[in-house]
Amino acid sequence: MSRRATERNPFWTGRDNAAVQDALSRKCGMCGANVGEDCNSIIDGGPLPGRIVHHYRVGESA
Ligand SMILES: [Zn+2]
Repeated sequence: MSRRATERNPFWTGRDNAAVQDALSRKCGMCGANVGEDCNSIIDGGPLPGRIVHHYRVGESA
């Protein structure tokens, strides 16, 4: 799977999305969000704009 194909996917904004559920099952290596917690912006610590988790977290085990 190419990186380009990953970038074409929509951002994960729904908690019932399988990819989001999978991402939430592990700690985020980018922003440090713990298991079950939404990712936070690494810029200001607030919620991510338009999505729940970082791409990095979703693709970590793919
Ligand atoms: Zn994150």
